[in-house]
Amino acid sequence: MLEIFQPNALKGEVAVITGGGSGLGYGMARAFAQVGATVVITSRSAERLAAATARIGEETGRHCGSMPCDVRDEAGVQRLRDYVEERYGPATIVVNNAAANFPMRAERLTSRALAAVVDTDLYGTFHLTRGFVPAMLEARHGAVLNITLPVPERGFPGFAACGAAKAAIVSLTATWAYEWGPRGVRVNAIAPGPVPTEGVAANMLSTTTPAAFAGAGGDTPLGRLGAPDDIAAAAVFLCSPAASWITGQNLVVDGGIYLNRAPAPQVLAPRP
Ligand code: NAP
Repeated sequence: MLEIFQPNALKGEVAVITGGGSGLGYGMARAFAQVGATVVITSRSAERLAAATARIGEETGRHCGSMPCDVRDEAGVQRLRDYVEERYGPATIVVNNAAANFPMRAERLTSRALAAVVDTDLYGTFHLTRGFVPAMLEARHGAVLNITLPVPERGFPGFAACGAAKAAIVSLTATWAYEWGPRGVRVNAIAPGPVPTEGVAANMLSTTTPAAFAGAGGDTPLGRLGAPDDIAAAAVFLCSPAASWITGQNLVVDGGIYLNRAPAPQVLAPRP
């Protein structure tokens, strides 16, 4: 699918992708490398990053950089920014993909559990963007891409903390787009529908990937679940010059699920 993009579609761009060692982040990192970007992935696990960079090298023939970083740690994000700038030059694309999530009935959600998710999803997105955007604004060139949920304002039953954090990120996407558009920086989001990844299955549902997604997808308009490349293709587009008049959007990439379910992610949620 990604072959339809020119191999130099993102040539000259330096892309930092959080959570790039697994799942959707890995798919976006590989795709960005395939279309010519210099890619740096980050997450907490150095082992996961090492395996992912090696695999991206094998699959694309291109170098992929990495540095472990916890997106909750603002000072650590600044060290990541310095590392990227020294080795590759200022980042021109930031993909805020790292996230935490787990199922819990809303009445049992403690403030500590809420903070754990908000710290990673919302503050992580904030830290990365705050860290990297000044250089983009100075250069009057850059793209921020946040990974959210389809229509989070409709709620996320079973996952209140993640739904709240993602709704806040959708709002930040619009605010940042408005404030930074005149200064050359576009800000968009992708709202993925269900894409079977080990992370979602293990972290959210404590089960295996096939079990977590069994039965989901068949009755959706496009008749299937998503694949990491579905999200990666939209990410390449939104970060490329082809999207140069698009900013502030939360692009739903879900096979049409949100059209007939409210909220869309309900297909993943155990009934409370
Ligand atoms: P995943 O593989 O579990 O991805 C999460 C990534 O975030 C992991 O690589 C993890 O790596 C990293 N991460 C977690 N906490 C971190 C922290 N504090 N600092 C830095 N990195 C951290 O799951 P996924 O399905 O690919 O999800 C990717 C994104 O898509 C998430 O934003 C998720 O909310 C969104 N999404 C997914 C789906 C879906 O169906 N798959 C649907 C809607 C939205 P480490 O453990 O090494 O830190």
